[in-house]
Amino acid sequence: MKTLTSQKVALVTGGGRGIGAAVCRQLAAEGYAVVVNYTASQATANGLCESVALAGGTAIGLQADVSDEAQVLAMFASIDATFGRLDALVNNAGVVDMTARLDEMNVARWRRMFDINVIGSMICAREAVKRMSTRHGGKGGAIVNLSSAAAKMGSPGQYLDYATSKGAIDTFTLGLAKEVAAEGIRVNGVRPGIIDTDIHASGGLPDRVAQMANSVPMQRGGTADEVASAIVWLLSDAASYVTGTTIDVTGGR
Ligand code: NAP
Repeated sequence: MKTLTSQKVALVTGGGRGIGAAVCRQLAAEGYAVVVNYTASQATANGLCESVALAGGTAIGLQADVSDEAQVLAMFASIDATFGRLDALVNNAGVVDMTARLDEMNVARWRRMFDINVIGSMICAREAVKRMSTRHGGKGGAIVNLSSAAAKMGSPGQYLDYATSKGAIDTFTLGLAKEVAAEGIRVNGVRPGIIDTDIHASGGLPDRVAQMANSVPMQRGGTADEVASAIVWLLSDAASYVTGTTIDVTGGR
């Protein structure tokens, strides 16, 4: 594959807002050319790209629903054509749903949750591996998957399906890391705790961070930038011997 840029290139799914946007800003500041993936948040993603450019960095927005294989393939083809390389993938796109018990949930909800949170991450990782792996003529790379503290706690009575999808992500991180460790690719995860983003409002609990702050040993919710810092470290050469692990960023929870 022809290299069109000397900059390292990172794809951040769901990069237009929340934790993903913080990752994009930090990676751009580190000198990466950043691909900001979004589904609905086009204006926000474009605004982020403009602010990165104003600061002297490189960022482009690409629309794709990560659970739609054809859209993901088109996104990777566009990255190939624009940059000719991919060094980092952050599987950040993820959704919760309204708070409910298992006996109140339906299968359509579970399919959407797993399609986006699990299958979407797997499709993007597969396409990244095809480009990064030395087995396929690539130069290596790093992948970080967004898990959640929910994977360890189970989220009873709230988001049991979400917690289960993130448990799958933990296993995926472990297995894929071992599968491609000898091919130049490191795969790690981050398990955020209660982080101040819009995800809680999308689950019908806009005040969740303030309400749950007392349950956190550090007595506060975390910021998107605090999660992004762990992700950016895992992608960096400073983490060159780290693979197959998932870091809790939870304030001790
Ligand atoms: P957020 O503010 O709700 O943002 C979610 C992001 O995912 C948005 O950029 C959204 O893009 C994107 N997205 C959703 N569905 C998508 C799809 N089908 N295809 C592509 N992108 C899609 O959430 P966040 O708090 O930043 O969460 C980011 C990640 O951290 C998620 O995986 C989440 O599960 C995990 N996490 C968050 C917390 C927390 O407390 N915030 C805790 C643990 C884990 P559009 O706006 O364009 O749709």
